Amino acid sequence: MNRDPLAHVRDLFDLDDDVVYLDGNSLGAPPKNVAERVQEVVKHQWGSRLIRSWSEGWWEAPERVGNRVGRLVGAAAGQVVVCDSTSVNLFKALMAAVRSTDRSEIVVDAGTFPTDGYIAQSVAELTGLALRPADPDRLDLRDTTAAVLLNHVDYRTGRLLDMAALTEQAHAVGAKVVWDLCHSAGVLPIELDALGVDLAVGCTYKFLNGGPGSPAFIYVPTRAQQGFHQPLTGWTGHQVPFAMQPDYTPDPGVSRARVGTPDILSMLALDAALDVWDQVDLQDVRAKGLALTGHFMDLVRDLPGIEVLTPADEWRGHQVSLRHVRAGALMDALIERNIIGDFRAPDVLRFGFAPLYNTFEDADRAATTLKELL
Ligand SMILES: *Cc1c(COP(=O)(O)O)cnc(C)c1O
Repeated sequence: MNRDPLAHVRDLFDLDDDVVYLDGNSLGAPPKNVAERVQEVVKHQWGSRLIRSWSEGWWEAPERVGNRVGRLVGAAAGQVVVCDSTSVNLFKALMAAVRSTDRSEIVVDAGTFPTDGYIAQSVAELTGLALRPADPDRLDLRDTTAAVLLNHVDYRTGRLLDMAALTEQAHAVGAKVVWDLCHSAGVLPIELDALGVDLAVGCTYKFLNGGPGSPAFIYVPTRAQQGFHQPLTGWTGHQVPFAMQPDYTPDPGVSRARVGTPDILSMLALDAALDVWDQVDLQDVRAKGLALTGHFMDLVRDLPGIEVLTPADEWRGHQVSLRHVRAGALMDALIERNIIGDFRAPDVLRFGFAPLYNTFEDADRAATTLKELL
């Protein structure tokens, strides 16, 4: 049965066949070429070339790798830069989105990942705007709404929001929308340019497999770049950083989203990890993600004490979340048996299905082990 056109892609990853790894939505597995590339960067680029490497590709790496990420999220070149963490990029994006507004509120997805909510709180405090958490089904946007911050995929339930409809809703009242793509970048087709999204951020260590703490990305569309005034005016976002001028003039393009010296080792590990996508079609990745998560949900839906939190329709990302009163103990027992997912307090088991390396057998083994434990 050839239901998996991506089966061969698993061979590109360094994975132990005894382990069922279902946590690629927290920390993606390493593609095999990453170790070799990092060694080359350390030994040759850093070791032999030393500081000359800054002018031999390092300085522009944030924009160059940004363009590669951009291709995966529907952004034409020159609009994505890889830098900092998602938390920091959220701060830059939200501050820029509400700067000089005469509107009075920021709306945040009520189920947001905590850091997004904390950063939004801080932006609200610094700018004097109100922060209103709202259910994405009833955002109730108004002409007083300056910006809306939404998570494309809910980290807790795996629900996927309708980016087209919600972006339109925000624009209908003249509000800006900031999308957090942490759980969707690299696993489903995203059309930032086509949908007219105002700003977006995302991390690269989840489904993009960039490695622990690899730098995040930020999308600033060309039309918005001139008006994008971010609060962290570091020297690498300057128009002419090496002129060492006393005053700040932002780069005219997306580089104005940069702050300080880029983390080259992590950046180039991510660069290597992105090679995998040169060989796959995102439509296939999405189709396999839906098939894998659907198959797993069918296997576990009727297990005793289990409630499936992830939507059964196509409005889901590539994780399955199950509620069980003893979720924490169950996940510990699963991990002891080499089935690695994660637990989110108080009662959620999460299983991330990375279509590039997870198999239908992984889903079967995870479901069978869970059934035995119950
Ligand atoms: C993983 C995740 C983050 C992580 O932010 P960091 O700054 O990298 O720690 C932020 N937001 C969402 C929605 C996430 O899923």
